[in-house]
Amino acid sequence: MYAAPIQRLVTELSKLPGVGGRTAQRLAFHVLRASPEDAYALADAIRDVKERITLCEVCFNLAEGPRCTICEDPRRDDTLICVVEEVGDVIPIERTSEYRGRYHVLGGALSPIDGVEPEDLKITQLLQRVATAAQPVHEVVLATNPTTTGEATALYLADALHAQSPDVTITRLASGLPVGSDLEYADEVTLGKALAGRRAV
Ligand SMILES: [Zn+2]
Repeated sequence: MYAAPIQRLVTELSKLPGVGGRTAQRLAFHVLRASPEDAYALADAIRDVKERITLCEVCFNLAEGPRCTICEDPRRDDTLICVVEEVGDVIPIERTSEYRGRYHVLGGALSPIDGVEPEDLKITQLLQRVATAAQPVHEVVLATNPTTTGEATALYLADALHAQSPDVTITRLASGLPVGSDLEYADEVTLGKALAGRRAV
């Protein structure tokens, strides 16, 4: 129907989340109408993130270089680690200004039905990090999503951490977050309260 290069752009755009065929066509025509500078800037930005952004070697947050800006920040509290499912969950917690510790990004949540087992997540790395920390960890905050898989992951981590490091306090975000939703979409006031009111598990 379209020239091959246009069809290729439509196909690629339609792979983006929330973009159906019709939207992909509209975006493709927008790119066609755009100035060469704007269109190349978009292509360059995509290439740039893929080439320059990696996962932090300590916490698996996004990083430009071996470590992320949070792990590099000497003012953060080393004795406190907040465990989240995805890199997208770090920013909402940062926005609450309630948290000054470090992070650990699991890379998902346990879901045996979907084939996501403990070894598919950065769980061994978390346990090792807690066990070998230069400055002993006092508290691990389990900030996985208030969903079935997020709760199952928090339970699994609480058991594993209690067994390995009985002196470390394990906490879970207070209730009040909309059940079944993702942290990423929680407003900062609700999320801030959930953090401030976290309880031991
Ligand atoms: Zn990091």
